[in-house]
Amino acid sequence: MNSITSVYKIGNGPSSSHTVGPYHAARTFGARYPDADAYEVTLFGSLAFTGEGHGTSKAIREGLPGAKVVFDRETKEEDLPHPNTMLFKAFKNGKEIAAVRIFSIGGGSIRIENEASDEDKEVYPQKNFSEIVALCNQENIKIIQLIYILEGYTLREKLRTVWHAMQESIRRGLKTEGVLPGGLGLTRKAKFLYEKRCYNESADVAMNRVIAAYAYAAAEENAAEKVVVTAPTCGSCGVLPSILYYMYKDRGFPEEEILDALAVAGLIGNVIRTNASISGAECGCQAEIGSACSMAAAAVAQLYGLSIDQIEYAAEIAMEHNLGLTCDPVGGLVQIPCIERNAVAAMRALSAVNLSRFLYETRKISFDEVVATMYRT
Ligand code: SF4
Repeated sequence: MNSITSVYKIGNGPSSSHTVGPYHAARTFGARYPDADAYEVTLFGSLAFTGEGHGTSKAIREGLPGAKVVFDRETKEEDLPHPNTMLFKAFKNGKEIAAVRIFSIGGGSIRIENEASDEDKEVYPQKNFSEIVALCNQENIKIIQLIYILEGYTLREKLRTVWHAMQESIRRGLKTEGVLPGGLGLTRKAKFLYEKRCYNESADVAMNRVIAAYAYAAAEENAAEKVVVTAPTCGSCGVLPSILYYMYKDRGFPEEEILDALAVAGLIGNVIRTNASISGAECGCQAEIGSACSMAAAAVAQLYGLSIDQIEYAAEIAMEHNLGLTCDPVGGLVQIPCIERNAVAAMRALSAVNLSRFLYETRKISFDEVVATMYRT
């Protein structure tokens, strides 16, 4: 498996596959052919059908100014090497000088056809979670220790940057009101949720309301095409940050422990990314919100100091109850049901941790099994 940093990318929403990935692809292609006098980018598959609502052409033009963007809705998905395929062409003096296919493979990552990428660099010799657990048990170390042994301690500063960007997205979202772009007329709700205290509100209701407000805040920033962190995608960018922000701000967990939780969550996202997919276009919302829910559950289990078995069980429960969740955004916009789904998944992650604390010895299904099932589903 590669570095967990590939799971967390900072970029403009609303979609890791449709904006963050295409933006990076455009920048990469432009840097290779800076002398070209014209560029053309053809979008296929999911990018062609939902790219307009997701702002793909805008993201490409930001990465490759002046590029002509064409939507090919004729080519069938089964004839494409990946559901999110882009064909980049560069021209000079009217002649084509390069044509390269680039795939937006989910979570803001790209793959250039027939090329290995830096993100493919193997950091973890282990292929799945079972192998990680086996090594931790053999060496008598915790998951977090294994992560720093293999990634190096420099990982910590990268995670700090990620954590600060996550917090920023929530803070901005909590302050902003108004209607989200795209035409659905959806009003932002994070600020309202955060400030609306019920009379005699119980501690449980307050906790759920505040976590939901944080999740809405990040997800609404994403829908407004502002900077968010993929965790593991833009569409699911509110789940893990909302839980971590709650633990940090409202429960007083120190930043250093939050960074450890972010690392463990990243490893869970990485296992899913390696063995299945985190792309909604490829595997539906179970791959986005389901993965985010698993990551958040593992993060909380890490913060609570639970055992490897409990961390695994929390992540497994969280994914299991998102299986089959489809990607069906209204109008192709990452708003309905996406924003609300972030809040629901954040609360579900906490329930998964609570179950795992008590029932981990009775579990029958491994995390790897549920990841494989998600991919088959
Ligand atoms: S429905 Fe889920 S997978 Fe689809 S765009 Fe929304 S958050 Fe992403």
